[in-house]
Amino acid sequence: PFQLIHHLMELNIFPTLTQLLDEDVARKVSARMGFEILTERKERHGPPPPAPKVVEETQPAPTKKSELQPRSPVVAFLGHVDHGKTTLLDAIRHTRVAAGEAGGITQHIGAYTIQRGGKTITFIDTPGHEAFTAMRARGASITDIVVLVVAADDGVMPQTIEAIDHARAAGVPILVAINKIDVPGANPLRVKTQLQERGLVPEEFGGDTIFCEVSALKGKGIDHLLEMILLQAEVLELHALFEGPAVGRVIEAQMETGRGPTATILVQKGTLRTGEIVICGPYWGKVRALINDLGKTVREATPSTPVKVLGLNGLPSPGEELIVESEERKVRQIAEERQGALKRPKQEEGPKITLENLFEAIAEGQRKTLHLVLKADTQGSIEALVGQLQKIPSKKVELSIIHAAAGPVTESDILLAKASEGIVIGFNVKTDSAAAAAAKREGVQIKLFSVIYELVDQVRDAMAGLLEPEL
Ligand code: GDP
Repeated sequence: PFQLIHHLMELNIFPTLTQLLDEDVARKVSARMGFEILTERKERHGPPPPAPKVVEETQPAPTKKSELQPRSPVVAFLGHVDHGKTTLLDAIRHTRVAAGEAGGITQHIGAYTIQRGGKTITFIDTPGHEAFTAMRARGASITDIVVLVVAADDGVMPQTIEAIDHARAAGVPILVAINKIDVPGANPLRVKTQLQERGLVPEEFGGDTIFCEVSALKGKGIDHLLEMILLQAEVLELHALFEGPAVGRVIEAQMETGRGPTATILVQKGTLRTGEIVICGPYWGKVRALINDLGKTVREATPSTPVKVLGLNGLPSPGEELIVESEERKVRQIAEERQGALKRPKQEEGPKITLENLFEAIAEGQRKTLHLVLKADTQGSIEALVGQLQKIPSKKVELSIIHAAAGPVTESDILLAKASEGIVIGFNVKTDSAAAAAAKREGVQIKLFSVIYELVDQVRDAMAGLLEPEL
């Protein structure tokens, strides 16, 4: 279902679990997954068959672009710690006050919107690639544009590189904000050269990555940054269906005195309205109120709009899906089933994708790429390993090293592997305890090696389907 939903989202369709797809869409998605659909044509003899039963909860999936409307971009800030992500988010938030907009300052609900020349931009309020990838690991792709924040005095740092890899693994375009240009010793040119080496080439050097120079602290260059975000968004031609029942994702949720559980939802499709019955993860409720990022009660929320939902009977987790369902009986049933599943002791399932079962997964047509997160003791080992691994010939399986860095295996590595359905490989490194717990929870395989050729041989064998299952 994960993959299917992912492919559908790429076609700008945000399906509910019970939605029928029309033939055209089904064909497109099947083709992407390596299947062909054959249509069965029945010859009719004798009396006509009884009329087919109408399944009420299904709606035909819309495919025509004309039914879709433009939606605003959803932007996340990634980058090394202390390079100014939070300050930048605050500076942008304040442009709303500076613009004299009615209502003034936005509340912290997990995301906020600003207007620029009649257009809207939505910002995710939790910066950092950990939050970004944690959402993706739950199957929630909500970000359209990543703004990579790099401090001009500090330059590219390990987490800058990590952030680039996380954004790339998600297939989200990157726009660079060189921050702290007010600091003496700031060197924007050095940042550009460093990033160029990582494949983010500024337009002035002949590339196509947008770079903006800003000072979050002094509020310099913010307008230009917003314009560039809108420009990037235009290229992406973002659309969504505004009609119909809403589908959204949880950005954050909390218990509030007097309000009970509240969850900020980013609507991805359809329109969410007060009074509707919603299912959100294992919880449900009638939407008692919708509160926007200015703390105002609104009656409805459309795609790309974050809104706080009141009325759920529990706290859902970030990344979980919210859907509207009109039949209360059905809603209760689904929610109860999901809660039951939550309470049952979880069976140890083990990792889904492993080096050992890779080939079976390929044979079943599930995948053609082995995604690796590679961690090693030194930068030298990383370079040697990447060089060796990239030399492995394989016709059937492609190797994609989505992240390679020196250092221990961390939780962020696990989530990245999970989000890309990959494996984590370590060379002469340890796994920290948070990472070990995450690997178990998320079902991600970690393979540790201390001899280079063993590592390379195992990956080669896995890609050829020669690896024996571990006992
Ligand atoms: P984050 O960890 O990336 O969210 O970074 P913060 O936004 O918390 O910023 C880290 C520090 O850098 C804080 O002390 C900020 O005041 C400072 N800072 C952020 N932006 C700028 C800037 O443009 N110029 C200067 N001089 N300092 C900044």
